[in-house]
Amino acid sequence: MSKKPVVAVSACLVGQKVQHNGEVAEFQPLSKGWSKHLDLIPICPEIEIGMEVPRPATRLVKENDKLKLVTQENSVDYTDRMLEYSQIQSDYLASAGVCGFIFKNDSATCGLEKVEVHNTDFSGVENNGRGLFATVFTAFNPHIPTIEGEKLMDAEQAEHFLARIHFFHEWQNAGKSGWDANKIMQFHNENKLFLLSRAPQMKRILGRMIATRFDEGAHPEVIALEYMTKAQKALTLVTKKGRIAHTMERVFGKFSNQLNKQEKQEVVELIHGFRQGLVPRSAPLLLINKYLGKYNLNDKNINRFVNPVPPEMDLLRQV
Ligand code: SF4
Repeated sequence: MSKKPVVAVSACLVGQKVQHNGEVAEFQPLSKGWSKHLDLIPICPEIEIGMEVPRPATRLVKENDKLKLVTQENSVDYTDRMLEYSQIQSDYLASAGVCGFIFKNDSATCGLEKVEVHNTDFSGVENNGRGLFATVFTAFNPHIPTIEGEKLMDAEQAEHFLARIHFFHEWQNAGKSGWDANKIMQFHNENKLFLLSRAPQMKRILGRMIATRFDEGAHPEVIALEYMTKAQKALTLVTKKGRIAHTMERVFGKFSNQLNKQEKQEVVELIHGFRQGLVPRSAPLLLINKYLGKYNLNDKNINRFVNPVPPEMDLLRQV
């Protein structure tokens, strides 16, 4: 299994000239920066079903409550070809172990949200669709985190999405030789602080769900998949500073009795400053990390919260 998380991405976002008009839509932080820490699989569904560059732009059209993928310019219907390809590719990507998919926005094929949906004669349009390939991929793989590339321009969205990818990658590694009750409980215990900092209600629900589903006799593989599906759904919403600060206080509580008054004050002020938006998340975490090392407290649960993404990605200075 890859040491870096494998992430699929719309090929145009990493600089491939595959858009219908041949223009580039490269997102350089991904293609030039984060790509060192992720194994990217670029995919252009339209090219893979045999379309060429240049080509007429595709549109989503609603006809009798069914969505079709057609070209406005010459009315060619690609729906069946795209559906067949999407099912095969979505299955393949899940079995290849992708930990996420970064989609190009505003595309009738790849867009995740607010994609234009036209009526049959193109006289009316609503912005409430999802691209055809993205629809199939998310329906087949509700446990795999997805996002539109445009959102990654926002530092908080980027950090949160990359944390979801690494959470998924941890889960994948934990279950690589098969799931059993102990492994599922251990994974949950090792990610409690991570979940507390990003989806606190779901942390409690997941703990109860594991016990209930084993009582019901469900298979461990099924429970592990349900666990990740529920967790990723809750993690769709970007976390808030207050949740992160609250979790920092929980971690601080594990060593605060070993600090003198001035040292305590320093940690408390930095957490407060972060909560108020005056200092980045990295500021209190650097100090907390120093004391965790000094008092030998850095267990997996704490580490998953303190380092949700590899520190070399340098994201915590921006959020
Ligand atoms: S949005 Fe999707 S289909 Fe369109 S060029 Fe990019 S990868 Fe290809």
